[in-house]
Amino acid sequence: KVSLTSSSFESDFSKLGTDFYTLLQPSAISNPQWVSVSDSTANFLGLDVEQVRNDDLDLLSGRSVKEGSRPLSMIYSGHQFGVYNPQLGDGRGILLGELVGQDNELYDLHLKGAGQTPYSRMGDGRAVLRSSIREFLCSDAMSALGIPTTRALSLVKGDDQIIRERVEPSAMVCRVARSHIRFGSFEYFYYTDQQEQLKALLDYTILRYFPLLTPDEDGYLEFYRQVLERTASMVAMWQAVGFCHGVMNTDNMSILGETFDYGPFGFMEIFNPAYICNHSDHSGRYAFNQQPNISYWNCACLGQALSNVLSQEAIKSCLDQYPKLFGEKYLGEMRLKLGLLEVSDNDSELIQNLLNALYVEQLDYTNFFRTLSDVDFRKISELSDSQSGELISWLKTYEARLEAEKFCPQQRTVQCKSFNPKYILRNYLAQIAIEKAEQNDFSEVNRLLQLLSRPFDEQPDFDSYAQNTPEWGCGLQMSCSS
Ligand code: AMP
Ligand code: MG
Ligand code: MG
Repeated sequence: KVSLTSSSFESDFSKLGTDFYTLLQPSAISNPQWVSVSDSTANFLGLDVEQVRNDDLDLLSGRSVKEGSRPLSMIYSGHQFGVYNPQLGDGRGILLGELVGQDNELYDLHLKGAGQTPYSRMGDGRAVLRSSIREFLCSDAMSALGIPTTRALSLVKGDDQIIRERVEPSAMVCRVARSHIRFGSFEYFYYTDQQEQLKALLDYTILRYFPLLTPDEDGYLEFYRQVLERTASMVAMWQAVGFCHGVMNTDNMSILGETFDYGPFGFMEIFNPAYICNHSDHSGRYAFNQQPNISYWNCACLGQALSNVLSQEAIKSCLDQYPKLFGEKYLGEMRLKLGLLEVSDNDSELIQNLLNALYVEQLDYTNFFRTLSDVDFRKISELSDSQSGELISWLKTYEARLEAEKFCPQQRTVQCKSFNPKYILRNYLAQIAIEKAEQNDFSEVNRLLQLLSRPFDEQPDFDSYAQNTPEWGCGLQMSCSS
């Protein structure tokens, strides 16, 4: 195992030059204490959790920086709720440096809530414990679900009083990601007409993250195509698992197609295709069923930002492929959830009919699929007490469809359970952990971290965590304030 203290923090991104960022030091939160260090993220980086706990509190709470490192805040812009905002940038985030992970890739270590930067606008540069817990837990949970995502190494609580809708304790998350380059990073250089910088960023991105491509016109086009493919694939996985991001602004879209910037996200509970998790999203722009369209729209924004290096026709021909890329991936994911290995022309309809039935029946999305994984078709009444004709008739179609599969029932169950999680980060579970942590009891955060690291496994001691959301916890909407 390597230790953070002894590893090099070589920052590749800083070589791009100061048009791309501002060098600055993090500012510490007061009286920091550990809330949690993620085992799985630490392992993945080849770090020893105990060593991190013993040695790295100062580093991961912004009190010290490593000698020779060059912490920086990145510049970017982006479309927020459809409106271009010419200057965003890391308003409270600082890239500490980069570390070689177990897969020999370089990973950014980024402190979120590390104080004001030139991009803070009116913000205080801080992050509250509430939103930091949510990001910390959800990024590990998504990773365990097999969905591309940024990770989090550590979570520290401070004593500062942060003013949001109420006064809240401060916190700092150390986010780990292969890249913090966003769609909005390219938009910034396009809209400020900095052509050379845009090309430099593009070449950097290709050389570092798309090593099979060459930094020339063909490579740029293939890069754009691959970003679209990764984005479509990520969003298809969100739709299949029932994840609603909540703030799909172009500055929150990673160039690597990883789930990025956890704010007012929510997992689907009682199925509602128009689910809105973000309290500030009055028009439902980022509603669950809008995510595929919005991701396409965001990809078009990226296309615009690349319109000086790619032709309009090339951009359009890539974008035209997007619905197909998304649709195929989504269908593939849903087939896996249903235990279908064969492909049938009617699968789209089968899935749509199921979603309609779930909506009519007001069933919990996650628990329905988990129960379906186990179901013995002679006992379909176990699925719901008050079944509409729709669900019954769907189950009959499904049963017939299963005949075309080579699986025996036991194999089907094993297969389905490995794609239908039992445990997800329901907002109310996060809320309980947050309220305890605000009282300095971090046990629930750590319990959820462990639980959600094995979302597909039966964990009998934690069955209550897999129950349908209790009434008080249903429909919790999260505000953007964080
Ligand atoms: P988000 O909605 O989380 O993507 O944030 C949008 C922009 O606001 C980003 O540029 C953030 O860095 C910035 N921001 C969010 N919260 C704060 C804060 N408390 N202080 C300074 N900047 C912030
Ligand atoms: Mg953001
Ligand atoms: Mg955010």
